[in-house]
Amino acid sequence: MLRWAEVNLDRLFKNYREVEKLSKGKGIFAVVKANAYGHGSVEVARFLQSRTNVSGFAVATYGEGAELLLAGIERPILVMSSTVEEGRDFLKEPGLIPVVYDFKELSLVKELNVPFHVKVDTGMGRLGFLKEEWGELLSQLKGSKVKGVMTHFCCAEERREITEKQLDEFKSFVRELQKLVPEPLIVHAENSAALSLKLNSVLTHCRVGLALYGSRPTPSYPAELEQVMEVKAKVLTVKELPPGYPISYSATYTTKGRERIAVIAFGYADGYPRELSNKGKVLIEGKECPIRGRVCMDMLITSVPEEVKKGSVATLFGKGLTFEEVARECRTIPYELMCRISQRVERVYRGV
Ligand SMILES: *Cc1c(COP(=O)(O)O)cnc(C)c1O
Repeated sequence: MLRWAEVNLDRLFKNYREVEKLSKGKGIFAVVKANAYGHGSVEVARFLQSRTNVSGFAVATYGEGAELLLAGIERPILVMSSTVEEGRDFLKEPGLIPVVYDFKELSLVKELNVPFHVKVDTGMGRLGFLKEEWGELLSQLKGSKVKGVMTHFCCAEERREITEKQLDEFKSFVRELQKLVPEPLIVHAENSAALSLKLNSVLTHCRVGLALYGSRPTPSYPAELEQVMEVKAKVLTVKELPPGYPISYSATYTTKGRERIAVIAFGYADGYPRELSNKGKVLIEGKECPIRGRVCMDMLITSVPEEVKKGSVATLFGKGLTFEEVARECRTIPYELMCRISQRVERVYRGV
């Protein structure tokens, strides 16, 4: 194997416990959309189902949800960003729960007569019923199979006041909705970042992704998390280039003196940001090795010390070189780097 991602399930378990502490007894929906942020949604969901009392899972699409059902996931699976039209065939069997965010969706779930959650927009400007629609919405929800209600915060990382304002609006909606339904509603709004705000409210559940995978949404995040995934690749060859020798496409780097370089079997097709050409670094034998020249589709090249040999293992993302750090380096977020680790990179599970 030349390129792989080690997914450490013991760390996932520890992170889950940390999230439990932050969530203060609320139910947890583990967010496993986008193949569990690249970690493997089937493996992650099976593990959490067998080892924790996770309330359920959240995915983006019906395809993602169906994959979990086929894999034996029995806890509820919220489908957060699809359409009932797409879900029509999947919704004949129980297991997948649509999130309803406009009147068209609402009339379709009522037609299918399936349980659902309703989403309101309190300031995200994305999916959800706007405040001006709440009156009409409440009247249409009367007698329906609505089981839960949710909203999403736009600024949970940095803006407490905005989040609290969103929450106040949300509460007023929840209060009205609860009057219409006999059973207690499932009420959820927080993602990983929002959990650190310790909001005092009507929320019964939270929806957590990032923190489970061991990245902090903010540097001061109050939990001890460990990155679950470590991405590694082997050195294909090592050689010493003469002075003044160009490296990789467009010859954007030229050796100064003689330079020992390693060609590593990992490129942008595997999910390494091309933006880190001449900028990023990898760890080999515990040493930081700077990337030289452009990152290619299947390979990248680094300068290396003497001890690095053909077959040495390079860490692209892992201990000492986290998704958080690399994300800062290339002006993105750990979420994007995790999701980008492609299918070609075999997932290897540890600590099962
Ligand atoms: C992805 C997502 C989450 C999870 O967010 P994290 O920051 O990864 O915890 C929660 N809610 C919704 C609606 C999402 O799309």
